[in-house]
Amino acid sequence: MSTAHPMVEKAARAWCKRHAEACGLDEATLWAEREAGFLTEAQAALEACGALELLALAEQYANECASCGGTTRIWTRTQDPQDSIDVECPDCIDIWLVIEKAGGLP
Ligand SMILES: [Zn+2]
Repeated sequence: MSTAHPMVEKAARAWCKRHAEACGLDEATLWAEREAGFLTEAQAALEACGALELLALAEQYANECASCGGTTRIWTRTQDPQDSIDVECPDCIDIWLVIEKAGGLP
């Protein structure tokens, strides 16, 4: 069990998968043997390019979205002028999808 950030773990597992394929090894076995090493190297690589800081900044901006105030939903009128529905905020949904892909924040 690791306490690495989800993004670090994803990167480490991708690295392990690639390494296993390149060397003709079993991915699960390789991970079991070298998990700590893959995590350490992934952490260093992501820190070197500011990936974790970028993720934190992305969430900060998405939470301050001028259109939805960070709720991810906006109200919009339907064809019936008396009626409105809430839909995904078009201004920040792409940011949230990337944050989700990256595994969220620590
Ligand atoms: Zn928004």
